[in-house]
Amino acid sequence: MHEAALVQGLLDTALKAVEEHNRQQPEARVKRIEELVCQLGLIACVEAQTLAACFELFAEGTLAQGARLTLETAPLACRCESCGHSFELHQRRFVCPACGGDTIHFSGGHGLTLLSLRVESEDTDHARTYSGHSG
Ligand SMILES: [Zn+2]
Repeated sequence: MHEAALVQGLLDTALKAVEEHNRQQPEARVKRIEELVCQLGLIACVEAQTLAACFELFAEGTLAQGARLTLETAPLACRCESCGHSFELHQRRFVCPACGGDTIHFSGGHGLTLLSLRVESEDTDHARTYSGHSG
C-alpha cells in the first residue's frame, strides 16, 4: 500500500530525530512525540484519512503513539509549456494562470515530508518544537 510506505518513512525519520536528540541531551530526554507536522505532495494521490489510520497503526508502541499527524499540502512548482510561465500550484488544477494553457510541466509532488515535531520532555512540562528539514 502506497500510504503505508509513506507513513513508515515519515515515522522512521521522526523516531530517528528523537533518538538522536536523546543521545545528545540525555538530561532532557523526549518521552513522547505529540505532533508531527508534514507536507504532503499535491499529487501524492493518497487519502489523508488513510494516512492517519496507517500512522496510528505504525506509531503504536513507539514514542509517537497517540501523536497528532498534521498535514499541509506542499505547493507544486510548475512551468507552462506554451508560454513559459513559472508558477506554483496549490490545487490539482493543471491550467496555466497566465495563458490558460493546459500543457503543464512539473516534477515531484508525490512525497510526504516531515516539517517539524512537537515533543514532550521528561524534565519539563514545556512542549518543545524541533524543525525538520525539507526535501
Ligand atoms: Zn502559459
